[in-house]
Amino acid sequence: MKKLMAANWKMYKTTDQAWTTAQELVQALDALPGDREVLVFPPFTAISAVVDTFKGHDGYSVGGQNIYPAEEGAFTGEIAPNMLLNLGCSHVLAGHSERRHILGETNEFVGQKVTLGLDRGLKVVLCVGELIEEREAGKVEQVLEEQLKAGLANVAPDVSPELLAVAYEPVWAIGTGKVAGPPEILEAHAFVRKKLIEILPVSGKEIRILYGGSVKPDNCGTIISLDNVDGVLVGGASLHAESFSRIVLA
Ligand code: PEP
Repeated sequence: MKKLMAANWKMYKTTDQAWTTAQELVQALDALPGDREVLVFPPFTAISAVVDTFKGHDGYSVGGQNIYPAEEGAFTGEIAPNMLLNLGCSHVLAGHSERRHILGETNEFVGQKVTLGLDRGLKVVLCVGELIEEREAGKVEQVLEEQLKAGLANVAPDVSPELLAVAYEPVWAIGTGKVAGPPEILEAHAFVRKKLIEILPVSGKEIRILYGGSVKPDNCGTIISLDNVDGVLVGGASLHAESFSRIVLA
């Protein structure tokens, strides 16, 4: 499968700014290399602008940063899977650390989002990762296992591998400039792979595992070449087409 190069624009960019960055990205990348796939998660208000810009360009997709696990209803401020699909999104993020740790989402709640997203036809990127205190307490594997088990609890064991990706994002490396080193990435990704095979015996071997946490143009080449690294999820360095295009081509 192609390497999945994903951009999380978080709560940055108006519609106009998103349109400009998406245009610049398509121009900077020209034709995408055959082994790369670009996925951008803009804020909800900018999804249409990015979908329109990517139309007609192969290998580019757009996702929502979140869904609420219900078809519709009295959930003020929330977004349903159908609303994302209707805008032209193919993907959704679930369990980003900012939603887990700032907005208080539990492992089980994240699992409900994964289940409904897949049920409704969205491809899901499930984010997992430990806090620095958990790493220092020797609990990395325990945290990853709990997040994966709950996040994938209702996923069919033979789910088509292109419908699901897992992003390993150590929380201490997100937005801090502290990238995990190759040994930490290798160890965590090997553990995620082992758990994926246990939880989803038919598809676990092929499901893509992305690394996220202070990925930049100058470290992406090393990271992407590591075993079990099938792509990256990039925050800060994805906000500018110049740096994100260099990451995509790394
Ligand atoms: C992220 O938001 O998922 C992320 C990895 O951010 P950054 O690249 O800024 O660390």
